[in-house]
Amino acid sequence: MNNQTLLTRSMQSVWHPCTQMKQHETYPLIPIARGDGVWLYDADGKRYLDGVSSWWVNLFGHNNTRIKDAIKQQLDTLEHVMLAGFTHQPVVELSEKLSKLTGLGHAFYASDGASATEIALKMSFHFWRNLYSETQGQPSKTKFISLQNSYHGETLGALGVTDVAIFKDTYAPLLMQSAQMPSPDFRLAETGEIAEAYALRCAEDLEKYVAEHHETLAAFIIEPLVQCAAGMAMYPSVYLRRAREICTKYSVHLIADEIAVGFGRSGTMFACEQANVTPDFMCLSKGITGGYLPLSVVLTRNEIYQAFYHDKVTKAFLHSHSYTGNPLACSAALATLSIFETDDVLQKNRETSDFIWGEMQALNNLPIEHLRRPNLNRSGMIFAFDVITKNPNFSRGCYAAALAQGLLIRPIGNTVYLMPPYTINHEEISYALQASIHAVSKAIK
Ligand SMILES: *Cc1c(COP(=O)(O)O)cnc(C)c1O
Repeated sequence: MNNQTLLTRSMQSVWHPCTQMKQHETYPLIPIARGDGVWLYDADGKRYLDGVSSWWVNLFGHNNTRIKDAIKQQLDTLEHVMLAGFTHQPVVELSEKLSKLTGLGHAFYASDGASATEIALKMSFHFWRNLYSETQGQPSKTKFISLQNSYHGETLGALGVTDVAIFKDTYAPLLMQSAQMPSPDFRLAETGEIAEAYALRCAEDLEKYVAEHHETLAAFIIEPLVQCAAGMAMYPSVYLRRAREICTKYSVHLIADEIAVGFGRSGTMFACEQANVTPDFMCLSKGITGGYLPLSVVLTRNEIYQAFYHDKVTKAFLHSHSYTGNPLACSAALATLSIFETDDVLQKNRETSDFIWGEMQALNNLPIEHLRRPNLNRSGMIFAFDVITKNPNFSRGCYAAALAQGLLIRPIGNTVYLMPPYTINHEEISYALQASIHAVSKAIK
């Protein structure tokens, strides 16, 4: 199908996500015919460097031979079988591997991030219910807390702990209530206050709240180290460590939503490792299949699993999705983990991250009045900077200007970020940064 036909037919038949469709009258959809490495190509061969890893899911490039071959092989063996009452090799191997990597004993599967959030919230709530009904009857731990500006997905339960007004406000009457704790995002620190001191101040506020409300609190859900959807809001690991201590002290679950930062994105395999923290639940998705197939998982501690292991059916976690533990998706995840094992990905990423960081310093040459200080930030393979501009349409303008340069980036408000596939090479990095500088210079005016 040629580009124009694809656009017209898409506008007539597809409802695109996170989009005011009418804006496509001025900003046309981008038709993509194929992908290869960090590049996406349209039908005429025009290419775009995928600077956001196709919404943070791609790790090792498009058209990756190893992941592709693993899926093909699985396709010839078993495409799917229901996971209730049945099991298969890919799901067992994946669960064992994830357990080894995280120290969390049991894996519950779904197909997208928001579902993983739902599962973690329900499991936490249900755990306390199971526990209390054995001892003193009435479960009181039914509430959740999250961080200001947090993002945990957009189904109703997940939206209830998300704190992004544009996604949430419309649906407020439908949502469960949750309280938001001050975000340790270092950009919110007082002038002159160092990031760690600010993070500790936020942790004090967290402790105050938890000390007062712990009897009604089931869990604290948090995006470890980087609140990506909040505009790559980064914070020091000391906050996460304190959060773990506080949750342990007051018997509140810690749910680590590593959907965006897991699988090496923040520099370590999982962001929690940087704080030396084991959460009670860990939610994973996005990079888990290298960006190939939808898959998510909630991992949890054996003690929590044991509270559901009972003669009574109602004590069980009676949650399911039709595609739970899909073998094709699991095989893509196994191939992804195998690349981590054989290719020393985390070490290579450190080198790539340092190179990008060095090249990024050129951004300091943008007109000084447009730069927010401290400006450039990174966490592993996430790179971001904030601009100051009077252009209310900066984000869209920058996106469009970058596309014209053959670069796909999607600034969040005034935060421009790059989250490229790990396989990006030096030449592609320079290309991406030059296109970014050009696009930002154009859009800030
Ligand atoms: C993307 C994301 C989600 C939601 O995942 P979906 O697959 O889009 O439903 C949840 N939490 C975080 C931190 C995310 O980045």
